[in-house]
Amino acid sequence: MDQPPTPKRLDSFSERTCWVCFATEEDEPGSDWTCPCMCRGATKWVHQVCLQQWIDEKQKGSSSIDVSCPQCQYPYQILYPSASPFLVCYEYLNRAITFSAPMILAGLTASSIYWVSFTYGIAVATVSLGRERSIAFFGNPESSILALTLPLLPWAVLSVKLVRLEVQALKFWYRFISPALYSLAKRIPILKSMATGHNPQKKFMAAPVAVLPFLSRCLLGTFSLPLIASTIGYALSYILKSQSSLRRTLLGGSIYLLLSYIAKISIEHHRGRLVGASPPTMATDYNFP
Ligand SMILES: [Zn+2]
Ligand SMILES: [Zn+2]
Repeated sequence: MDQPPTPKRLDSFSERTCWVCFATEEDEPGSDWTCPCMCRGATKWVHQVCLQQWIDEKQKGSSSIDVSCPQCQYPYQILYPSASPFLVCYEYLNRAITFSAPMILAGLTASSIYWVSFTYGIAVATVSLGRERSIAFFGNPESSILALTLPLLPWAVLSVKLVRLEVQALKFWYRFISPALYSLAKRIPILKSMATGHNPQKKFMAAPVAVLPFLSRCLLGTFSLPLIASTIGYALSYILKSQSSLRRTLLGGSIYLLLSYIAKISIEHHRGRLVGASPPTMATDYNFP
């Protein structure tokens, strides 16, 4: 109102610049312009299409989100064409699904994990106890507690795998057992020459592992353990003539774990390195492993 007529005319024609795409009236003649907020001057103009796109980006598909001008903060009044009841219902349904989808997905994932864990627990129990005893076991009304304890089984096995017992054993060896052996050897005349030149402060450092292959190996190892244990146990039953399924599986599992940990420890010892050792020569390093 208080602006002189000449600038107003210029403002409405040649000085219009879209604050979204920075194009002027001359750049894109014939496009639809709008000034939807309280901004003044050249910056108040924006292309209708540009503003629509900008609002769509801000709302990310949810028309219930309020959008305001980034400069004057005036809330845009968005008028949607009147929709049929069907479309309105669809929009509400769509919003409800979008809102609850992450929670539903999380719930489904959690229940899948629970059921896989539970099935694993049942498989372990069936394999270990044998068919008859496991039926009696699960038929017990007291066994509702099993629904809580069985699913924990695979996680217990997995966590043992994840801490890498072989690495912990080697660390323990080099921290406590190895120094004790060296100090003992120093006191025994025949072994004295072998123990000299050693640094008892040696520490074991595990070789780094790639996370994803390691995790998938741990998972696979966890899920195959009952099968391997029962297979070895079954094979041993021909030699031992043991009738107890539980004893067979436990024996099979123990033998398998013992052998696999011996292999793992020797591989880990070979791959890892010792830190803090005085000149590591082959002769001294391998006298006392
Ligand atoms: Zn524009
Ligand atoms: Zn504004």
